[in-house]
Amino acid sequence: MNKGKLFVISGPSGAGKSTVITRLLKQLNNVYFSISATTREPRRGERDGVDYHFMKKEEFEKLIDEGQLLEYAEFVGNYYGTPAKPVDQKLEAGYDVILDIETKGAEQIMAKRPDAISIFLFPGSFAILEERLRLRGTDSEEKILKRLAQAKIECKKAEMYDYIIINDRVETACDEVIAIITAEKCKTAGRLHYLKEEN
Ligand code: ADP
Ligand code: 5GP
Repeated sequence: MNKGKLFVISGPSGAGKSTVITRLLKQLNNVYFSISATTREPRRGERDGVDYHFMKKEEFEKLIDEGQLLEYAEFVGNYYGTPAKPVDQKLEAGYDVILDIETKGAEQIMAKRPDAISIFLFPGSFAILEERLRLRGTDSEEKILKRLAQAKIECKKAEMYDYIIINDRVETACDEVIAIITAEKCKTAGRLHYLKEEN
């Protein structure tokens, strides 16, 4: 059995990463979404252990000290990080794994796991991004301005990604991400074993 593939999805806050990934998970079997650890407060409707592992700063720093995180970064005043063990277990078991992480974390993954496939999601313009952040209604005005400033920094790193998806319509963006996942799984290296004589 082939090992699963690791997919990194980044993009400015409000681009629609969660929306696209939620839709995608309903359409694809055999895909595991990595639940990150964070020190951010839960938003309305977010569940611990489903959307994130919410924790105090001390708890997060213990994970760092114990080497339990595949990557981590600070984003607009909070820590975010990927617990390594579930990701590796799922990859070994043949699941494809999706990480929704910001660009500093993505750089760490690209260095550690050069076979990871990276996708950058953008809403089409900064004006649309601002509108989506405001419509989402989850952040204070101060936080929105910080997230928009961070968006400019993150978008400068878009060129280091393998693919860029413009999230204009959610359905189209989701179909495009699925197309990438499908194509990556058809790569020759992962399929050659089917052609061996003993099969
Ligand atoms: P992210 O996870 O990238 O921060 P979200 O998935 O929370 O972004 O999306 C931000 C807001 O934009 C949400 O209110 C969401 O419903 C909305 N949204 C996402 N994608 C689209 C889209 N293609 N068109 C319009 N609104 C969208
Ligand atoms: P939010 O607070 O909007 O849920 O997420 C803020 C940012 O943190 C987003 O860009 C999201 O992709 C990123 N993020 C979420 N989990 C992780 C993680 O485990 N590691 C890193 N580096 N970034 C993450």
